[in-house]
Order: sequence, then structure tokens, then C-alpha cells
Amino acid sequence: LWITFEGGDGSGKTTQAALLEDWLRDQGRTVVRTREPGGTDVGNLVRDIVLHHRGDVAPRAEALLYAADRAHHVATLVRPALARGEVVIQDRYLDSSVAYQGAGRVLDAGEIRELSLWATEGALPDVTVLLDLDPASARRRLDAADKPFDRLEAEKAEFHERVRAAFLGLAAAEPDRFLVLDASLPVEHLAAAVRARVALALG
Ligand code: C5P
Ligand code: MG
Repeated sequence: LWITFEGGDGSGKTTQAALLEDWLRDQGRTVVRTREPGGTDVGNLVRDIVLHHRGDVAPRAEALLYAADRAHHVATLVRPALARGEVVIQDRYLDSSVAYQGAGRVLDAGEIRELSLWATEGALPDVTVLLDLDPASARRRLDAADKPFDRLEAEKAEFHERVRAAFLGLAAAEPDRFLVLDASLPVEHLAAAVRARVALALG
């Protein structure tokens, strides 16, 4: 089973992914928790470019870097784990690219999706949890966390509004794959909703 978490920066993806991992391990499942960008050695090199490079990265170059990370990640980590019957919990996947490189950077969303599907030979998760949060609340959370901003976290509010709308549009287009949650709800409430959906998928 393959579960991805999506949503804007500060929406709580990492927290929910960790709680789900704990719960699945308690059930005796073997879990691989991973993230994009990153997740592999190559991926972490790409992550360093896309998040920490000072100065502009051309939008199409950025889209290709994320796609390259994803191609390597799916081929070397995600598919092998799924083939072993393990549960993969992943922080961000192709929906992030459609939302950020597509809506955020004003590239064609359909092309970004096709690029990603080419990169991964069509790999799509079984369940995608979208943690939906308005950008102003997300900003407050990130400010409270008091860590240095990544390149994109520093984008202006309007960029994050476009990203949010894109995520919601993707979820509406694929209601079977997506579970949309209001990320302003308490952490434990959200975790319970995620567990219920994953329990259903596990059968
Ligand atoms: O979720 P995480 O904080 O690790 O994401 C790192 C950054 O990369 C985020 O600021 C996110 O906006 C950006 N990102 C992106 N396109 C992707 C994945 C992540 O712009 N496909
Ligand atoms: Mg972040």
C-alpha cells in the first residue's frame, strides 16, 4: 500500500506521516517512510539544488529536477518496497509538482503531470491525504517553528493561494484517491481520520 501526504508548507504533513507510521508499525506492518524531494542519495542532491540554491532556477529546469528526483525515488525505493509488500508513506509526490511547478510557476499542469508519469512509468499512490490549510495560518505555523525558510516557503501569499487551489482541484478530479482534511483541526482528530481511510484501504 502506498500513501502520500500533500498540502502546502506548514500544513502538518510530516506530523501526520509520522503518526501513521507509528500506528502501522503497532499493527505489525513493515513501513518505509520517505519524502520528495529527497528520499534517496540522488534525491537529496536534487533537494539541495531546488531548495537551497541562491538565485533563480528556470521553471522548466526546476520541473525537470523534481521529475528526476521522482524517477530515481520511485525506481530505486518505492517500487521495490511495494513489491516486498511493505507500506510506503510518502511526504509529497506528483500532486506537489502539479501544484507548485504547475499552478505556482505557471507551467501547464497537464504537461507537468505527464512529465511525472513518464518519469515514474505511471506510478500513482493508492491513497493521497491532502491537508488543506489557508496560507495565512500556514505562515503563522512556519513563523512559530522559527526555522530558516526554504526557497519556496519565502514565496508571497498569492503563490501559496494558487498552490492551495491547485491541490483542491486535483482532489476534486480524483475523489477515490484523495482524502481531503481540514488541517486546522486538532492533530489527533486528523490522525484518526487518516487511520480510518488507511484501514479501509488495507481491507
Ligand atoms: O515538504 P517539504 O518542506 O520538504 O518541501 C520542500 C519545499 O519544496 C517546499 O517549500 C515545497 O514548496 C517545495 N516543493 C515544490 N515542488 C515539489 C515538491 C516540493 O516546489 N514537487
Ligand atoms: Mg516544508
